[in-house]
This record gives sequence, C-alpha cells and structure tokens, in this order.
Amino acid sequence: MSASMNEFEIIQRFFMRPTTNPYVLLNIGDDCAITHLPAQTRLATTVDSFIAGIHCFDHTAPREIGHKALAKNLSDLAAMGATPQWLTLALTLPEVNDTWLTEFSQGFFHLADRYQVSLIGGNLARGPLNVTIQAMGFLPPQQALTRKGAKPGDLIYVTHTLGDAGLALQWLQNIISVEPQYHHYLWQRWHQPEPRILEGLALLDIAHAAIDISDGLVADLNHILQQSHVGARIYLNRLPLSAALQHTLPFYDAIEFALSGGDDYELCFTLPPHLQPTLVKRLLNVQCIGEITASPGLAIIDKDGLFYQPKQQGYRHF
Ligand code: ADP
Ligand code: MG
Repeated sequence: MSASMNEFEIIQRFFMRPTTNPYVLLNIGDDCAITHLPAQTRLATTVDSFIAGIHCFDHTAPREIGHKALAKNLSDLAAMGATPQWLTLALTLPEVNDTWLTEFSQGFFHLADRYQVSLIGGNLARGPLNVTIQAMGFLPPQQALTRKGAKPGDLIYVTHTLGDAGLALQWLQNIISVEPQYHHYLWQRWHQPEPRILEGLALLDIAHAAIDISDGLVADLNHILQQSHVGARIYLNRLPLSAALQHTLPFYDAIEFALSGGDDYELCFTLPPHLQPTLVKRLLNVQCIGEITASPGLAIIDKDGLFYQPKQQGYRHF
C-alpha cells in the first residue's frame, strides 16, 4: 500500500503510456485528449460499466477484471466491424492498492496492446469498484455491421462456440461440477473472453447484420430480428458446442446454455447465401445455425423437426 501516492502519481505510474497511434495528437496529462479523424473515416463509440458484485465476484483477480472490462467494450466494436483506436477509463476504487493497480493495468494493457488500442484519458475516484470504459474505433464510410440489415433468406452464423461462459459461471459458483481437464478452458472462457475484432473486420463488407452475444443467443438474435423487421429459424443440432459443454451436460441442458447463457462475446451475424464461399475462405471458426425468414418471430427447431421452447430467458439487468 502506498497511501502517499496522489492521483497524478497513480495515473503516471499505472496508466500513462506512450502511444504509437498517429491519430492521437495529445495523450493523457491535459484536461482533454485530442485525436484526429482521418478523411473518409467514421468513428464508432461505445461505453460500458463493469461493477463489483454484478460482473465479477469479490474474489475475481484484478488482472481478469482489467481484461474482461476491456474485452466487453472491444466486443461491441467488433460487432460493428470497427477497428479499435483509443479508450478512456473511469475507475472508481474503494482504496489505493499497489498490487491491485499493477495487476489490473497488466490485464488491461495486455489486451489493449494486442489490438493496438491506446488509453488516452480517464478519471479516478474513490467508491465501490466500478470500471467504466469508453472505446472508439474507425469505420470506413458507408460500411458498418448494424443490427438492422438482415434480409429474408440470409444465413445466420455464430463464431466459435456458445454457452461456455454460462457453464463456466455455474462451475465457478459450485453449482455444476466439471471434469478437471476442462477447468482451464472454462476458466478462460469466463475470465478472459476474446473480443472477435478480426472476425468483425472480415465480415464488414459481406455480412448484412451483426451483434455480439453478451446476454445469450436468443436474446441477442432477437435484437437483430426486431431491428431488421424479420424472423428466423435456427436448428438445435447446428449450435456449436465445445467439448467441455458437451461432455459435462446432457444435450438439452447444454442447449439451454448455448441459447440463453450470457457473457460469451461471440458474434452472431447474417449473410446472403451467395457469399457463403467468401465467408468460409476468410473465417474457419464460424457455424451456420439457421436462416432469416420474412415471417416474424424466432422458431427454434428440435432434432426431430419440432418446435423447441427454451426454458430460460437471456440475462436482463432490469
Ligand atoms: P481533470 O481534473 O482535468 O479531469 P484529472 O486530474 O482527473 O483531470 O486527470 C488528469 C489526466 O489524467 C487527464 O488527462 C485524464 O484524462 C487522465 N486520467 C485520469 N484518470 C485516468 C485513468 N484512470 N486512466 C487514464 N487516464 C486517466
Ligand atoms: Mg481539467
């Protein structure tokens, strides 16, 4: 503990980093940061709060808080197809703790550096732990992956696997027991989600609509359906399930996690069928789970061709 560190010393020691981003004209240290938007570029902006007791456990390690709070934001940029550029960080802390700040900033910058995104400002305050991050990224003009563009006949895809973070959460809470061989994988899926930035960029000129799955597939796909004024059919036997999920739970329990589990941060997107060959040349870890329909509503089709009604709703904050 160094109770003597003042605010500016904390910022200097843990958060001030030189940036190589040519569009950052004035970095941390003044009243505002100044950035420059190149010609023919648009700015995508998102903000999210990560709150103790809601988004993490009291014992979640600071390194993981730094990673996950940032990953949630970068995931939103990924879902737009934006290239991350810079961040601001408003940090409210119950106390100043050297070790905590060291590890938090390591988790934060390890991920930020991987996507070459610069921290250009923020705030420090005392209070219950709250990590609020704003992320901004570049988009070319006339191109963005929104929730609005899905068309009847589009194929619906998801990246990687679904339901792992939901299973991991119940395992971490000792509700479900998991074989040791899957512990590392599940621990990572909940603590260190990978924002699908590269996937979002690969989709920018081919997908009609996209969203990141933070509240569960059904809940988030429904946002696309509502904003695009379309419906969808998805097939249970096509949902991509990890070995960990398949080997831990019977099929229908695993399916519930894949449909309604939160915190996966995979992308769900729609694509006209003629672009399928282009997609599979660009991305390996994608799975077609169904198609967009003109008639509204989401029909979930069982292995036997019958309608399936999920038991759980997606995560809701209110
Ligand atoms: P002001 O009072 O003018 O808002 P501060 O003293 O709060 O300025 O912050 C000084 C500088 O440090 C500003 O450039 C601000 O953006 C930056 N800063 C403050 N807190 C953080 C943080 N947690 N991470 C990164 N930069 C920060
Ligand atoms: Mg000021």
